[in-house]
Amino acid sequence: MKKRRLLSVLTTIVSLLALTVTWTLSPAVTHAQPATDPADIPGVYHPANPHLYKEEIPRVKSSAHGDDRLLGPTRPHYRMNVSYDTNRHVITGTMNVTFANNLGFTLHDLYFNVWANARDFTEAGGGTQIQSVKVNGKPAVFSLNETALHITGLNLPSNSRPEVQITFTVKVPNLQDRFGWYGTTVSLGNWFPILAVYDEEGWNTDPYFPYGESFYSLTGNFDVLFTTDRSQVVAATGTQVGKTIFHKDSATYHFRAQNVRDFAMELDPNYHVRQTSVGNVKINVYYTDRQAKYADAMLEAGRGSIALFSEKFGKYPWPELDIVSMEGWFGGMEYPQLIMISLTDNRTQEWVKSVTAHEIGHQWFYGIIGNNEYDEPWLDESFATFAAALYMNDLDELTTEPTKEEYYHVSSPVSTFTQHADAGGIEAYYQMIYGYGSRTLNELRMELGDDTFYRAMHAWFRAKKFGVATTRDFIRIMQQTSGRDLHDFFVSHRVYVNDQE
Ligand SMILES: [Zn+2]
Repeated sequence: MKKRRLLSVLTTIVSLLALTVTWTLSPAVTHAQPATDPADIPGVYHPANPHLYKEEIPRVKSSAHGDDRLLGPTRPHYRMNVSYDTNRHVITGTMNVTFANNLGFTLHDLYFNVWANARDFTEAGGGTQIQSVKVNGKPAVFSLNETALHITGLNLPSNSRPEVQITFTVKVPNLQDRFGWYGTTVSLGNWFPILAVYDEEGWNTDPYFPYGESFYSLTGNFDVLFTTDRSQVVAATGTQVGKTIFHKDSATYHFRAQNVRDFAMELDPNYHVRQTSVGNVKINVYYTDRQAKYADAMLEAGRGSIALFSEKFGKYPWPELDIVSMEGWFGGMEYPQLIMISLTDNRTQEWVKSVTAHEIGHQWFYGIIGNNEYDEPWLDESFATFAAALYMNDLDELTTEPTKEEYYHVSSPVSTFTQHADAGGIEAYYQMIYGYGSRTLNELRMELGDDTFYRAMHAWFRAKKFGVATTRDFIRIMQQTSGRDLHDFFVSHRVYVNDQE
């Protein structure tokens, strides 16, 4: 996600930092301290002994692969038959998902994340109702607690491939958001119950994070039959299979997507579509009359950034990408093969290109190379911000300073920032994760030199394609590829592996 307010926040931060620098030069104020020592706040993660934690950064190990993580259930295959009622703003339908229990033990329960049932949406009149859950054809006991759907009383042996069927109704709220309808546009991001990830921490059912993302899912395949009224123009993750089937006032689409970790759609009866391609990748830009003046910028940034990122990081692996226009409070939002660009009348063409490149950057950093967005948000946001600056030829503008509060790290989880939300934690999140994180990657590029850095990025892509990466993996691959000990580099940039461990 790219925030509309990021630039102004960063500008403010830069001005504040200029002030701080002036103060620190004055002998009267040599050590600026936060008003409250973070170590005094209960529950705040604060390094009592920086040296101890410095030692936690792994040194170069030639044999370490780090790919033997506990991570599952794998290879989900979602089959859905759903419809959207444009007048009532309601999705109804059934989803069948099969997956492999690769975890090495019998599963007695399962979790799905139901992001459309987050308080941000229920308070705006949206929400999800689960009508029934069946596991291997038998009714199962379940409970829905905000975004966590918990299915219990199961007996799913190791190495089995169970099937879960969920019948649900989703009310789409009237919101300018990644999930919501506004005017004639319907944004369907994170709208269906998605299988949670089980890893070393157990089931991941972290809370919805409205200022960024807390999504975490493994790649799988989707087969979606989607019915809505025939006036809608529909953009979706994946590729349409066959022709649209019209029946009286309705239209049914069949979308299929492979190796993706989510499935999003965007609808508007007023959309026009322009297409281009780069290599074998088809790019579709969806826009209304009002947004038409930005269509060229989105098309150009789409073509240019897919070509550039394929060269610098690794080849774009899917046949198609949809760039859809909408009106949100943020800059843009990423989903696999579909990005939302939030447009209002006063955007500059450069802004539109930059946001488009940022969200396309997420196709690599989130889409292809996955991460736990709640625990390690920098692994997608710092990288997408770096990618956009690379495309815009603005790498030398990545100059954001780190927060003066030393307990905020580039590698901090979202919770470190949200627990200080009343004391500037959200601004600190943008400063560290978008601003200083992308600067850190650019300084790594300068430290290693372009050849080595992009060779290492390709190695990162090959090692983690369609998987889930961690900070530890990133440090290891950068060190292995460059043959350098980057311990001091990462420590001095506040990248610590034990933020997650
Ligand atoms: Zn982003």
